[in-house]
Amino acid sequence: MTDTIPLSLPDITDAEVRAVVATLRSGRLSIGPQAEEFERLVARRAGRTHGIAVSSGTAGLHLALLALGIGPEDEVITPAFSFVASANCVLYVGAKPVFVDCDPRTLNMRADAVESKITDRTKAIIGVEVFGNPAGMSELAALSNKYEIPLIEDACEGLGGRLGTDAIGGFGRVAVFGFYPNKQITTGEGGMIVTHDDTLADQCRSLRNHGRAGTSRATASGGPAALGSWLEHERMGFNFRMNELSAALGVAQMRRLDELLEMRQWVAETYTRRLMGNADVLVPTVAADCFMSWFVYVVRLSDRFTEAERDEIIAGLRRHDVGASNYFPPIPMLPHFRRLCGHQPGDFPVAESVSHRTIALPFFTRLTGREVDLVCQTLELMIKRASFARSAIEELE
Ligand SMILES: *Cc1c(COP(=O)(O)O)cnc(C)c1O
Repeated sequence: MTDTIPLSLPDITDAEVRAVVATLRSGRLSIGPQAEEFERLVARRAGRTHGIAVSSGTAGLHLALLALGIGPEDEVITPAFSFVASANCVLYVGAKPVFVDCDPRTLNMRADAVESKITDRTKAIIGVEVFGNPAGMSELAALSNKYEIPLIEDACEGLGGRLGTDAIGGFGRVAVFGFYPNKQITTGEGGMIVTHDDTLADQCRSLRNHGRAGTSRATASGGPAALGSWLEHERMGFNFRMNELSAALGVAQMRRLDELLEMRQWVAETYTRRLMGNADVLVPTVAADCFMSWFVYVVRLSDRFTEAERDEIIAGLRRHDVGASNYFPPIPMLPHFRRLCGHQPGDFPVAESVSHRTIALPFFTRLTGREVDLVCQTLELMIKRASFARSAIEELE
């Protein structure tokens, strides 16, 4: 019928291709100047002194929890409505995730809901800017100060956004960005830890690099001798480094960040204008002081639709070559968390109700107005079919 419209697509120009090829030709493929430059650019954007490039956003969260000394017996508060990595990282260090339901409008955790879950064992709060929306982050930061419990900002969906004048990535004691290809910028796979805390930064640098001294820039082929040797390991570490090819791609993408965010903003506004008048569809709401960094464009069906109908609408969109997805299933209801934490349906009423009705629509920089219109036409047709199927069934009964 038509060309496929994917759910997401990275924006790679000749500048990125040239940067990666030049790095490939340089002979320096890991632990080098590209990662250092990428770290500077991302840290500066988040208003932080340190950037630590890692192999994925998830690896960054894992290291942030380890560097904060979180382990067995500890509780970590984390959102019920987010990507699964926001909670898996708590399991990696042997701690217990304590889930908090989301606000129905912003989809982020509310500080008062978080406060009610704080116990003597709470050792961290993981705050997520869901879909790139910074709503409520200053309240979470204030709560973290009041109880002296560190806020870990899972900023993997929010690079470049801000709340008033405060950049996403600047709210937590430590924040983590992610660069999977569907994010605002990509490194193929990759992540970045940012923080003001010198000790925490050194620990993260060491943990990502097999436990070598945090300041070590040694490589297998030698390095500045004064900065620690290749085979000195101060602690049990991991290999969560970002390679130089990814970092070169990241540097080229960072230089285009504002341009990329503007294009995403235009696509989001085009969708919102097109769908605003449709009573079956709720478009994202953004408060006046929230400068979204648009990660995805997710609409919600109105309350009269069931989860099964939503799934049928997504399947219909896909049959018509339009990418669509159900961002996100509530994390506590995923099999491994249900086994571990014993939650039952109904424990997180807002997250469950929201997640049964979400549809992520195709969203990337180069989406044209015509394609947005085609996606919306197809969506409206699938919604009509679902409504029609239901009234036919009701008549039979
Ligand atoms: C993308 C994302 C991550 C990290 O993902 P990786 O694929 O590991 O880079 C973590 N948390 C959230 C909320 C995300 O959206």
